[in-house]
Amino acid sequence: MGNRYVDFDRLFLEEIECLDGRKPRLLLHACCGPCSCHPLEELLPHFEVTILYSNSNIYPRVEFERREKELMTLLADLRRDWGCHVGLMLDDYDYEGYMAELRGYPQAKEGGARCQACYEKRLRRAFEVASENGFEYVTTTLTLSRFKPSQIINRIADKVALDFPDVKYLHSDFKKRGGIDKGKLIQRKYGLYQQLYCGCEFSYAGGLERAAKQGLKELYHPLDDPEGHPKND
Ligand code: SF4
Repeated sequence: MGNRYVDFDRLFLEEIECLDGRKPRLLLHACCGPCSCHPLEELLPHFEVTILYSNSNIYPRVEFERREKELMTLLADLRRDWGCHVGLMLDDYDYEGYMAELRGYPQAKEGGARCQACYEKRLRRAFEVASENGFEYVTTTLTLSRFKPSQIINRIADKVALDFPDVKYLHSDFKKRGGIDKGKLIQRKYGLYQQLYCGCEFSYAGGLERAAKQGLKELYHPLDDPEGHPKND
């Protein structure tokens, strides 16, 4: 595909057309509950979906656990209201192991080389789990975020896919066709926790700034407590 612009949403729709009513098993790598809402809305009519929550990039642990719990609550709500069952696989948390390689890019700005390495690590893990567990397809919620370039994420996934010929990568651009706004409607309906930063310690600093601007006191202060208990408790 080179570096020319590719309409990954069109590829997504074309792949669904080809299913011809068949509902294959798909592993959806999900970064959090809010970003899962719209992709689930798109995928559930066409696939038997299982979510993989594998996000050792999130700092501190308490934030990782908070996002995991929020995702579980969302899936229970959707099961009740949409009548659908979404499987859930939870990966272990290993922030230090995960970040060992990414700390080689401390000055990289968000969306740059460090983030691209981070997308690749999580996508690779999703392919591994999909391959080990016999999923026909794999995809990710990452293309929903307005801060994450869908062109780059899909190209990275295509590269990783070469190592897993038994799993098909489902291209996506969940931002398209009003995806962000559609996701927000569901997020609001279920009152989902809106995190203020992407995940790692580098993005956490931006989260602290946003929390200060919004007068929030509940963001965790890892410098005070590496386990991430709220500062003002
Ligand atoms: S900002 Fe987000 S995508 Fe980038 S390295 Fe940190 S956790 Fe990964």
